[in-house]
Amino acid sequence: MTQDRLKQAGDIARGFGVDGILVTNGTNRRYLTGFTGEDHAVDELSGVALTGSSSTTLFAPATNLPWAQSEAAEGVDVLPMERRWTDSIATFAKDAGWKRLGFEDATTSYAAWSDLRKALGDEIELVPVGNALDTLRAVKDADEIELLRTALRMTDEAFVAASKRIVAGMTEAEAAAIVVEELRNVGSEGESFPTIVASGPNAAKPHHAPGDRVIEDGEPVIIDMGALHKGYAGDLTRTIWFGQPSEQLVTIYSVVQAAQEAAIAAARPGITGVDFDAAARDVFAEHQLDHYFVHSLGHGLGLRVHEAPSASMRSEDTLAPGNVVTVEPGLYIPDWGGVRIEDVLLIDDESAENLTTAPKRSVHATIHGE
Ligand code: ZN
Ligand code: ZN
Repeated sequence: MTQDRLKQAGDIARGFGVDGILVTNGTNRRYLTGFTGEDHAVDELSGVALTGSSSTTLFAPATNLPWAQSEAAEGVDVLPMERRWTDSIATFAKDAGWKRLGFEDATTSYAAWSDLRKALGDEIELVPVGNALDTLRAVKDADEIELLRTALRMTDEAFVAASKRIVAGMTEAEAAAIVVEELRNVGSEGESFPTIVASGPNAAKPHHAPGDRVIEDGEPVIIDMGALHKGYAGDLTRTIWFGQPSEQLVTIYSVVQAAQEAAIAAARPGITGVDFDAAARDVFAEHQLDHYFVHSLGHGLGLRVHEAPSASMRSEDTLAPGNVVTVEPGLYIPDWGGVRIEDVLLIDDESAENLTTAPKRSVHATIHGE
């Protein structure tokens, strides 16, 4: 599988008319070379890669060298990285007789670019290639789909286990700690992002950090969580409640569920991210609630929690077979609360497969006998 990725990266390099691309994006480095080392900071990289039209080289600092060698995929050469990694890149490119070197503009720092500019001299041109390598990750291969299935199964299992233990009277932070514990219990490497538990009015904030607010009966509780499996991220949101749901909660929940169903029905290869998003947004508009849908419908999922393709009003993407994308409509009503429901879809040749199996709403009633 890595061979295909290297070949595609080579095609991208040729498309930009460069001899190779400097990979400073840690996720792309892992994707292309197999090396799992993570960067401590933008100025403290665990390695850099150079992917050319005919070869791919991973440069790693001496401390990471044996590790990098043990993980490097077939077809990836591993070389030691000098203290100033820009010198290693410049030496390599000059020795290979390169004339144009591509770089990822979003993750190459100005300092690194300046050092490179100096080290490369006049004979090698630096060419920005935007996020061209990120777009490769949008279409998952069979191995990745298996890894994502596992990450999502773990996420769903952990949610079911956690929802049996979370009760009204607990704080959001206590509930979030239970989620983290259950993620560990199902074998997750950790959280794919910090777990969100948002109750009552806090549920009106899509990215609320769980705090000491006590969860009460009848109000919405949004739980957004994800397992991590071999670097691949799970992502799941459920909105639950305890006791009798308020009338408003029942209404809002039903509309969000209808919006999600409409979007899932619309998901297929060839639909634009804009139209996919609109499938849910239109349902909200029919209820004059669309101004409470304050984020986009979904995002790609893989080695990162947020990656291509995006489903939003401004998306420039079109869904394609092999995309794994979330569908997470939500309504957020200030001072009252909110509802979000999130599943993950795999776009196949004709439509979409829902990879999420975590129960919605009814399971909660089953668990608590309501
Ligand atoms: Zn989520
Ligand atoms: Zn998400």
